[in-house]
Amino acid sequence: MDLTQEQVMSALKTVNDPELFKDIVALNMVKEVRVDGRKVWVHVELTTPACPLKDVIKKDVEEALKKIGAEQVDLELSAKTRGAAIARNSNLLPQVKNVIAVGAGKGGVGKSTVSVNLAVGLARSGAQVGLMDGDIYGPSMPTMLGLRGVPARARGPKIMPHNVHGIHAITIGSLVEQDKPLIWRGPMAHGAFKQLFADNTDWPELDYLVVDLPPGTGDVPLTLCQLLPLTGAVVVATPQQVALDDAIRAARMFLQLETPVLGVVENMSYFVAPDGTEHDIFGRGGAERAAQSLGLPFLGSIPMFTELRINSDAGNPHANFTGNPKLSAALESMVRNLAGQVSLRNLSTPTPELTVS
Ligand code: ADP
Repeated sequence: MDLTQEQVMSALKTVNDPELFKDIVALNMVKEVRVDGRKVWVHVELTTPACPLKDVIKKDVEEALKKIGAEQVDLELSAKTRGAAIARNSNLLPQVKNVIAVGAGKGGVGKSTVSVNLAVGLARSGAQVGLMDGDIYGPSMPTMLGLRGVPARARGPKIMPHNVHGIHAITIGSLVEQDKPLIWRGPMAHGAFKQLFADNTDWPELDYLVVDLPPGTGDVPLTLCQLLPLTGAVVVATPQQVALDDAIRAARMFLQLETPVLGVVENMSYFVAPDGTEHDIFGRGGAERAAQSLGLPFLGSIPMFTELRINSDAGNPHANFTGNPKLSAALESMVRNLAGQVSLRNLSTPTPELTVS
């Protein structure tokens, strides 16, 4: 017997997005269904190109349709990053779907390293990504992106982000003299950040804009968080107790500002020697336990890898994803987990109507 649209839709309602814990019809991910006898063609739109579980969704759709007697299932998977409804109350950066701040309780824990690799990793998955270096105290992006000495470009009165490594990047390091410290206080930082990063920068349409915040919980990171229409924040911590206390303070700062914490990343979890042996230096797992105790998602651990430091100093972030498989696996897992958390946050965003033919 031929299948009907209704049977197909009912079968698709049994397929859950394993991460978002709702069925793909309720999530408006089923965009189009065509039925021809026992042949079914379905278009499913994922909530992010970095969807961690696309293979699971594909398998589950095929199984659900085979169960009702489909002889041939053609599944088209596409992705459209959803934007944050909460953040869009702001008229700042309207062309950006998700602004994600990366913060840390203190400097030197790898906040900029995580920001760069999140941005490049999301772009590698197919998303349009921007990176904003807001760390006025120690802008390290020019080095990490290989932009040292490369001046910012302008189009009319607007600054153009650098187009590097598949992302659009603005770094304060290309706008000021590299070796001179910037001394900014809250009110001044507010005006300067607004001008530099929002009003006067020609950002293209972006799925994600990753913002590397200044470290700590002082008035400059606080100002930047209040200014930007954030989808949420990522907290980077190293696992030892003294660093965790600072990380917990950073997480509390975001929560007080009503900025959702998308998750915690444990950096420098342990050291992987060139011979592959693992050495626990700072007390591996500490940040994961701290995330659990605060009820925050854990996005993953990044061990200490000599290659990561070398690739960062050389301004070559793609090498982190193509060289050492343990390093690339750790970074890719962090990227997927973040994309999943962003999708979860954006579930409330209205999506277009389903077309059935
Ligand atoms: P922050 O932004 O928190 O001040 P950075 O990202 O600039 O910290 O990192 C500080 C230094 O540590 C950099 O030289 C960076 O390359 C290095 N680094 C960070 N994370 C790792 C890691 N997991 N393995 C090896 N080196 C790292």
